[in-house]
Amino acid sequence: MEGILSRSYEGGSIPLARPLAPGVSSVNLNDPAFSDLAGALTGVKPVTYTDCSPERAPRLKDLCGKLGLRYLPVEEFLGRESHHQRRGKRIYLIGRDLKILKAAALAWKDPENNERWAGILGYPECCILMFSKWLKTLGRGPDLVEMSYRNTPEKEKLDFRLNNVCNYSSRIHHNGVIDRRNFEKFTAFNRRYIFHALHVIGWHPCSYACRESLKKAAVIFSFMRHHAPDYAATLQAALAKPVLFWGKFRFAFLEGRVAGESVFSSAVSLPRSLLEDRKYRLLAFSEEIRLGRKRAEFLREGAPPLFSRSFRPIVLNFVK
Ligand SMILES: [Zn+2]
Repeated sequence: MEGILSRSYEGGSIPLARPLAPGVSSVNLNDPAFSDLAGALTGVKPVTYTDCSPERAPRLKDLCGKLGLRYLPVEEFLGRESHHQRRGKRIYLIGRDLKILKAAALAWKDPENNERWAGILGYPECCILMFSKWLKTLGRGPDLVEMSYRNTPEKEKLDFRLNNVCNYSSRIHHNGVIDRRNFEKFTAFNRRYIFHALHVIGWHPCSYACRESLKKAAVIFSFMRHHAPDYAATLQAALAKPVLFWGKFRFAFLEGRVAGESVFSSAVSLPRSLLEDRKYRLLAFSEEIRLGRKRAEFLREGAPPLFSRSFRPIVLNFVK
C-alpha cells in the first residue's frame, strides 16, 4: 500500500482516473504536491507554493497553462534569494489570479506579514492564530502537533485528513541548529518515502476538531479522490493510523487500533522517526501498549518484556 509513496514515484507521476483538464491525465507527486494543487484548483487555497527544481520548471509552467493557473517565481519577482536545501531550486507561487499572487509575494518571508501571508494561502484564521503563538516561542515551547492535540476537546478519534505529524513545513526553526540537524536526519532516514506529500491540508490545524480545517480538508480530499481514487486510498491508509507521539521527531505510526487505554499493534509503519532503535524493537515486539497516567507499558502475551516501560506518549488516534 505504501509503495505509491515510495521514492520510486519521485519524478514519476500519479495517474488520474479522471483528467484535470484535456492533456492532464497524470500529475507529479511533488512540485507541487497533489494536495496543494487540489487546494488551488478548488479555491480552498487562493495561492499555493512549491519549491521547484530548474529541470522541472518547464513542466510546472506547462501544467499551470493547461489548468488555467498563473505562476510567479517569487524570488525573481522580489529580487532576493531564499535558502534551499538543493541548489538551483526556486519557489513558485501558484493560483488563479496574478494580482493575488503578487500580493502574496509581497507578504512572503517577512515575519511581520506572517498572518497576512497565511491568510492569502487560505489557512483558517483560528489556525493562523495558533501558529503565531507557536512562532513567538521560537521553538522552545510545545511542538505544533502537541498544541493541536491539547486544543482538541474530544481526543478519542481524530480525522486522518488533519494528520500533520509529518508536515515539517514552517515547523522547523531555521535558527535552531538542533531542529535543523534533526530534520536532516529524518529526511535521510526517509529518503525512499515521500513524507513531504503525507498530508491533506498544508497548515497546522488549531485543533484536530477545527471546523474550518475539517471543511477545507473535506473539499481537498474529495477532489483528490474524484481524480485519483487509488492515490487517495493510499494516502488515507498511510494517514489513518494511531500515532504514538513523544516529540516532533520521536513518534511511531502503528498498524493497529486504540481501545480504551491500550493500543493493540501488529507492526510499526513508515515514516521512520528518530526514536531510538531500542524503542522501535520494543514497539515491533509488543502486541499491546498499555497507557498509564504517566508511563506506557509494552506487553506481549499479556506480560512485559525486560526494560519495557517508557514515558507515556500522546496517542493520536487518526481514523478514517
Ligand atoms: Zn483552526
